[in-house]
Amino acid sequence: MTVPKVLILGAGYGGLMTAIHLQRDIQYNEAEVTLVNKHNYHYMTTHLHEPAAGTAPQEAVKVNIDEIINTDLIHFRKGTVEAIDPKEKRVILHDGELHYDYLVIALGSEPETFGIQGLREYAFGITSLNAVRTIREHIEYTFSRYHEEGEQESYLTIVVGGAGFTGIEFVGELADRMPDLCRQFDIPREKVRIISVEAAPTVLPGFDKELVEYAMERLQAKGVEFRINTPIKSCTAEGIELANGENILSKTVIWTGGVRGNHLLEEAGFETVRGRVKVDPALRAPGYEDVFVIGDASVVFTKEGRPYPPTAQIATQQGENCAKNLLSLLRGGTLEEFTPSIQGTLASLGRSDGIGVVGKIRLKGGSARLMKKASDLRYLYKLGGVSLVLKKGRLFG
Ligand code: FAD
Repeated sequence: MTVPKVLILGAGYGGLMTAIHLQRDIQYNEAEVTLVNKHNYHYMTTHLHEPAAGTAPQEAVKVNIDEIINTDLIHFRKGTVEAIDPKEKRVILHDGELHYDYLVIALGSEPETFGIQGLREYAFGITSLNAVRTIREHIEYTFSRYHEEGEQESYLTIVVGGAGFTGIEFVGELADRMPDLCRQFDIPREKVRIISVEAAPTVLPGFDKELVEYAMERLQAKGVEFRINTPIKSCTAEGIELANGENILSKTVIWTGGVRGNHLLEEAGFETVRGRVKVDPALRAPGYEDVFVIGDASVVFTKEGRPYPPTAQIATQQGENCAKNLLSLLRGGTLEEFTPSIQGTLASLGRSDGIGVVGKIRLKGGSARLMKKASDLRYLYKLGGVSLVLKKGRLFG
């Protein structure tokens, strides 16, 4: 008897949640499930800004896959996907190829640079654990060179492009790290500039005016400067040029201004909107009943026709829905439509501050930060139960 092959690409929020739910509910010999991921660990993307700024250790956001996946039930293949061929039902890895009956694509996103000259070449991105290691080390390096390089301001000027979630959470952490970093490298704090640049008329779009004002005031009090309504025109090794003509000399530019779907989706010939596949109500790629696309690689719409922003919250829920539908397909059942259930939105403003909306309740300060921690612990619990909560919970946020 041949057993159907289920292949899951990506062990982020969406892919891992699919695998964990299949592992929990699948019967022996119902399917051969393989999870493929570039690394043998999962990183919590929603916390990458912390090791990037150096306020949390890398271990805080890293979970080894063999700690949460039962490899007797789910095969794990460490590998990089290089191409997807949905017509031939195969996936090309850097070191081989895999065939499937059902495919789940959960390969996440990539930075969207909107064609801004030089960003791809000169700006850093908060995109993976390796990428944030580089950011942390680069900032420490530039601080260490400041006195040797004739005390040029550019060594102590950090520009963060984009003031959405990622950019704001990152500047909050960075501002908290500064006192220690300045002490370590004998640098007067007032010499350091952290500049948040945003093209839109407001930071943190989606939050109301009062919460946005609170966030900006708190960050300004920690020394963050803002350039709002100010697009970046170009980026070079020397810094950035703004559309208003201002030049900011900086050795460290970090771009957080937007994401698009993983390039492999467009290359595979799927219909995409900004690299994301506009999936059907059961999260399948149009024209392919055997291909599910979830997380940041997909896009789903509100009743009013607006795209939901790419979030871990939605990716996780999609993973649960996708596992249920895969089991249903394997058992000859019907598919359940995916409806996001938005429980709240929380943004941190450094170690002990934040803003958020949970249901009808608006939060700011320590209570918002606490709520964010609670939601992280809930995620860890879903991934690996109490033991993972006890192991990781104390390390971050
Ligand atoms: P990911 O979690 O990015 O996982 C993709 C996986 O695919 C990774 O394991 C990657 O290694 C793997 N992969 C990629 N390419 C390949 C390849 N070619 N071969 C093999 N493997 C590959 N969302 C919220 O809901 N709340 C928040 O507070 C929040 N804060 C955020 C803060 C930051 C700093 C950032 C960057 C994002 C934040 N987000 C937040 C967004 C959230 O992290 C994403 O929406 C979420 O990670 C999407 O999950 P995913 O499973 O689609 O992709």
